[in-house]
Formats: sequence, structure tokens, C-alpha cells
Amino acid sequence: MAIREILTVPDPRLKEVSKPVEGGVTDEIRALMDDMLETMYDAPGIGLAAIQIGVPLRVIVMDLAKEGEEPEPKYFVNPEIVETIEETLPYEEGCLSVPDIFDEVERPARCRIQYLDYDGFKVDEWCEGLYAVCIQHEMDHLEGTLFIDHLSRLKRQRAIDKVKKATKRKIREDVS
Ligand code: ZN
Repeated sequence: MAIREILTVPDPRLKEVSKPVEGGVTDEIRALMDDMLETMYDAPGIGLAAIQIGVPLRVIVMDLAKEGEEPEPKYFVNPEIVETIEETLPYEEGCLSVPDIFDEVERPARCRIQYLDYDGFKVDEWCEGLYAVCIQHEMDHLEGTLFIDHLSRLKRQRAIDKVKKATKRKIREDVS
């Protein structure tokens, strides 16, 4: 396993549409998911899409266990949202690719998803609460959409400028 670099805005790769994994869940895909999970835990975050480490494949990892609880890693290959309910849930979201920015996004409160798990088995389930928020946020990444794309143009630009400034400062600190 290895910790990979997480891309941040305005890296153009984050706008890419990810491609489906062909040929099922191979050892290569499992190795990618292992790296993604380690990178996510290190960050730390609760969800990560492959494109966030520069791999344009429809793969997501997640762990919603609270601090002090046993880890509960979840793996999603070729996930699809097949149904949503009309009722929405506002939730203050953040993203490892938009560090230190948090804002409220409103999404369907429940959704039904289908995906292949770590062992390649097909799963079909309903998600709600934080699980529903997180899977919809991560699935957006597969389409090249970030949570700040759901905000007003002004808020989005402010967020990007803030991250750009912070990244520049970090690079300066690293070289000095
Ligand atoms: Zn994100």
C-alpha cells in the first residue's frame, strides 16, 4: 500500500469524467483501492474517488466509522445511483480536493445504489443520512463535478482562490 498525492482545485484532472472499470475487480483494482483507502485515512477524510489521486476510473472508497470505532472500509467499483427520493437533506460538505472549505449542499435524502464490492460481488442497497450524502458527493467526482459546483459562482470562485493561495503558501514553506 502507498499514500498517493491528492489533487486539489483547480487541477483540470478533477473535471475529467471517469471511465468504467472493465473486466471486473482484479488484483490491480484491489491494489488501487488499498492505496486509496490508505491515502484517505492519512488525509484524513471519509471518502475518496480514484480521480482525486489522478486515476480516471469509476472507483470509490469510504469509511464512515466515527472516531474510536472499528474501521469500516467500503469499496465501490462502477457504482450507479438507480433511484432517489424527492425529499432532500442539506448537509455541510467538505472535500479533500478543496481543503478547508465547507459549505451546505442539498441532495436527495435517500438513494439506491448498485456497485461491485472489494471481492467483485454485485451489491444493491439503499443509503440514507451521511452515507447517502457521501456516496452522492463521491459519485459526482466520477462525473468531474465537485461539491463547490453546487454553490453559487461567487462562492465557488472564492473557494478556488482560497485553496490556490493556501497551496502556494505550502509550496513556499516546503522549499524554505
Ligand atoms: Zn470530494
